[in-house]
Amino acid sequence: MSQYRIAVIGGDGIGPEVMAEALKVLRAVSGPSLSLSWEEAEAGAALWARTGDDLPKETLALCQATDVILFGATGLPNIRYPDGTEIAPQITLRLVLDLYAGVRPIRLSPGVPSPLAVPPGRTIDYVIFRENTEGLFASRGGGARVGDSMAVDSLVITRSGTERIVRRAFEWCQKRAGAPADGVRRVTCVDKANMFRSYALFRQVFQEVAREHPGIDAECAYVDAMSMYLTQSPWRYDVIVVENMFGDILSDLGAATVGGLGMAPSGDIGDRWALFQPCHGTAPDIVGKGIANPLAMILSAAMMLRWLGERRADAAATLAAERIERAVSTVLAAGTARTRDIRGTATTREVGQAVLEALS
Ligand code: ATP
Repeated sequence: MSQYRIAVIGGDGIGPEVMAEALKVLRAVSGPSLSLSWEEAEAGAALWARTGDDLPKETLALCQATDVILFGATGLPNIRYPDGTEIAPQITLRLVLDLYAGVRPIRLSPGVPSPLAVPPGRTIDYVIFRENTEGLFASRGGGARVGDSMAVDSLVITRSGTERIVRRAFEWCQKRAGAPADGVRRVTCVDKANMFRSYALFRQVFQEVAREHPGIDAECAYVDAMSMYLTQSPWRYDVIVVENMFGDILSDLGAATVGGLGMAPSGDIGDRWALFQPCHGTAPDIVGKGIANPLAMILSAAMMLRWLGERRADAAATLAAERIERAVSTVLAAGTARTRDIRGTATTREVGQAVLEALS
């Protein structure tokens, strides 16, 4: 029997609301061949306001001691550091645990409304590889400010940091069936190499790694043009590799095309540890109303099981992931339990319940 211990961090805002539904689903897929147990730990802005610590050492120790981390969301608009920036322990975890690959599948499920006019026979199914530890985010907590008149942040690109994220993107692409439009395996590097030396290095390293993968179509695009292409013809894309800040922005854009942030799961994956969480934040505007879409969180739990299945060559974990994804697809295709963000009226719990029923 496979046994996994999971560190669970619900966090702030809607984090605990969507996490509750994901845990019910994980309980439902546990069984004689797959034992899943979890321990809950605290992190986030509310904790910081209460204790002065947003990521206690006990939480970090649990994350390091368990097999994997499942994370809700953290950060609240009314609780900020004195410099005005957000309390974001998930960003600290990316650095401390070296979770350098932000893997964000953008997939349109049958039955989910897209704001784009998707032509018949076409669909949206690509993956963004966001570099998670460098880029503009490397300046977080640093930078410089001169009174109220000037502030500076710097963007960091290293050869080694770029090489490893680009390699992961090509490896992932190799396992996929190609872009929906033409079935071609394609990795697209997104940057602003025409303007900045940092992005020029990112592109140069991408092109060097691309030469090691002659069977995969490798191309580059500037981020401004890419935001247009991703709304005009997203079906052309297969795998996208991108610097941290641009990846942050493009993944929200991508999520919007497949039903919104409530539909977009993600994994922050390193060589040793991994953390899975929805792409969305704490959604302060809907917290406590019971209307948050739990599907991004549930799909993140499925992604977690897929990662465990692959890492440990464990068919039981992979099978459980597939069951969850199928159950979510069934619920979406039926159209009976949908939250408001995807044009339904169901509550968070009703959608969680519908997934449980589809599982059984
Ligand atoms: P962060 O910067 O921490 O990622 P954000 O500023 O992008 O957060 P979110 O908290 O993700 O903001 O919310 C953006 C919008 O998306 C809000 O209107 C919110 O209600 C909506 N939203 C986010 N997650 C969900 C969800 N699971 N279900 C429904 N709506 C959501």
